[in-house]
Amino acid sequence: MMRLDVLSIFPEYLAPLELSLIGRAREKGLLELTVHDLRDWTHDRHRTVDDTPYGGGAGMVMKPEPWGEALDAVLGASGAPADAADAADQPAADAGGRPVLIVPSPAGEVFTQQTARELAGREHLVFACGRYEGIDQRVVDWASERMDVRPMSIGDYVLNGGEVAVLAMVEAIARLLPGVIGNPESLDEESHEDGLLEYPVFTKPSVWRGHEVPAVLLSGDHGKVARWRRDQRLRRTAETRPDLLAALPPESLDDRDRAV
Ligand code: SAM
Repeated sequence: MMRLDVLSIFPEYLAPLELSLIGRAREKGLLELTVHDLRDWTHDRHRTVDDTPYGGGAGMVMKPEPWGEALDAVLGASGAPADAADAADQPAADAGGRPVLIVPSPAGEVFTQQTARELAGREHLVFACGRYEGIDQRVVDWASERMDVRPMSIGDYVLNGGEVAVLAMVEAIARLLPGVIGNPESLDEESHEDGLLEYPVFTKPSVWRGHEVPAVLLSGDHGKVARWRRDQRLRRTAETRPDLLAALPPESLDDRDRAV
């Protein structure tokens, strides 16, 4: 079972992870998700987690000490000792076993469906939600000796904190875990699975406010429906994300695809 730990100074922000498919998956024991309050690892009256930046400048920086203690606690016995943690020495089969520290950051690698797939294969994910100007860099440096550290951005814009990014990433990862989505086939043709965006979808009634469902979808001809959907996927991708279409390996398109 996958284990996820989320560290935040606003644990209430992560409440949506108790709802819907993720909430049900937690109840069914498909994943173990714990949200921790970082301030539980502070020791002063004000439960301080931030301080002024060395070198000056605007804003505050998250102090390393609470993060260090929090990571010690969530890693427990699973944290690889620093001197044994040289990733190059780890056997490949151990990849699923080394904990992953995901640090949301607008300066991180962009989180994609491929990242979600890759992380869905890991055993233990720890999410460190930054606030203010971010977390003291030494936390990442220290953690890198024990965990696979992945600074991750959910897009080229700046949020106030890592919590919203974690909600997005956990949802994208958890829905790929076996048993979380009722019908796993529904994952196959989704946008970003094979480089093409999904086709438009319709349900009853067949006419709504004068707009008709495309006739081919009512024809019962599965071959025609499949071709129409593929054409729609190609067109939609070309229109809204030409970068995705350009990145497709040429052999993934047939002659008919190229004619669309
Ligand atoms: N000073 C930082 C910078 O310019 O890179 C931005 C800090 S931001 C105000 C506070 C926190 O929000 C970050 O530490 C990170 O956890 C989170 N955050 C902001 N934008 C994000 C994004 N696009 N993706 C992921 N996390 C983000």
